[in-house]
Amino acid sequence: MADSIFARIINGEIPTEFIYEDEHCVAIHDINPQAPTHVLVIPRRPIEKLSDAGPQDQELLGHLLLVVAKVAEQLGVADAFRLIVNNGANAGQTVFHLHLHIVAGRSFKEGQLTGGLN
Ligand code: 5GP
Repeated sequence: MADSIFARIINGEIPTEFIYEDEHCVAIHDINPQAPTHVLVIPRRPIEKLSDAGPQDQELLGHLLLVVAKVAEQLGVADAFRLIVNNGANAGQTVFHLHLHIVAGRSFKEGQLTGGLN
């Protein structure tokens, strides 16, 4: 499989500011933000999409959620953010390397799941 754009960002081929990084994942600003705050949390391990994850990824997936909370705190949006994972092309996934969108800083209507993110 060819490296995804996120693999190339993670390995430094495409210079991108990491607003958070540790041995398991990085967080970057989305290049095409859908809200005042739009950050992607990306595991270094190249899982194509969430539904490809298995038991071996359990700890990593939990870690990603804790990183989401930490990054939201860091960005001052811990009180109100939306977390989105597009799984599969028909769900709007365009980069086939698992990533979690943190979206914040605009209103989200109660009971409305989609927020204009693909
Ligand atoms: P998806 O549609 O797969 O859930 O989300 C992919 C996201 O990656 C999109 O929101 C898109 O704007 C973002 N993106 C695509 N290429 C790049 C890039 O080169 N740099 C950054 N920072 N974000 C990117």
